[in-house]
Amino acid sequence: MKIAVLSGKGGTGKTFCTVNLAASQAHSTYVDCDVEEPNGHLFFKPESLVTTDVNVLYPMVDSEKCDGCRQCADFCKFNAIAVIQNQIKIFGDVCHSCGGCALVCPQNAITDIPKKIGSIAKGTSRTNTVITGTLDIGEETGVPIIKDIETMLTSIDGLIFVDCAPGTSCAAVESVQNADFCLLVAEPTIFGAHNLDMIYSLVKMLQKPCGVVLNKSIGDDNPSLDYCIENNIPVMGEIQFEEELGKLNSDALVAVWEDKKYQEIFDKIFQNIIKEANHETIANS
Ligand code: SF4
Ligand code: SF4
Repeated sequence: MKIAVLSGKGGTGKTFCTVNLAASQAHSTYVDCDVEEPNGHLFFKPESLVTTDVNVLYPMVDSEKCDGCRQCADFCKFNAIAVIQNQIKIFGDVCHSCGGCALVCPQNAITDIPKKIGSIAKGTSRTNTVITGTLDIGEETGVPIIKDIETMLTSIDGLIFVDCAPGTSCAAVESVQNADFCLLVAEPTIFGAHNLDMIYSLVKMLQKPCGVVLNKSIGDDNPSLDYCIENNIPVMGEIQFEEELGKLNSDALVAVWEDKKYQEIFDKIFQNIIKEANHETIANS
């Protein structure tokens, strides 16, 4: 079973929830798809790391063969190619590595060459497997890294917890595509409820079963809980705003490994997810 954990913005507690959910379930896999800023590994401190590069193909033009016909520029829907005085200029930042320009070039003047954009590291921490995608500095999109992680996950059995990119970007959508259940992490503010609305709209569009964790709860007033009630979204659990959790987090410690009460809280959230996922499966069958 694959559980994707999302939040409308950074700082909501998405990584905190994903790390602790994975750590609360022995032998599960934690996957960091927040490739622009992966930090789950800071908590898990995985060992025996094996790292593989992620490459994409970029077009390279042989100016000796090119006759400036412009067919490549006309084909490119991303405006990544310009022909200026019979010279080809490729804008790598907006190229999506589709390979189409090489196919349409009548002179065979374009060759796709591999370029490294990031890496994927796989290691272990206690009984957990930890997979971390990292986008290289200056690169535009982490989607190819997430696609490679998805391929890697096809050979991994058991429970998988995916720490998605924040918000509703292409990277977030890619990380959710193959999830069996989406856990939405929400803060107890009006802004938090607005962000919850964004990610709830996304998972609704993708027709994924979902539930909410109310993080950093304090007092009775919680606009995110009000949003869940108004929209009939099941709440999987509530985590109180506590100084102790703040200290554990700032020391990069896994809360469920440090204090039994947090193990119980996250185990309960996990059991609620399983119940809700099974309920959805029965309702849709
Ligand atoms: S590979 Fe695709 S996106 Fe990149 S320049 Fe060629 S046609 Fe455009
Ligand atoms: S399609 Fe080929 S020959 Fe025509 S402008 Fe592009 S690179 Fe040059």
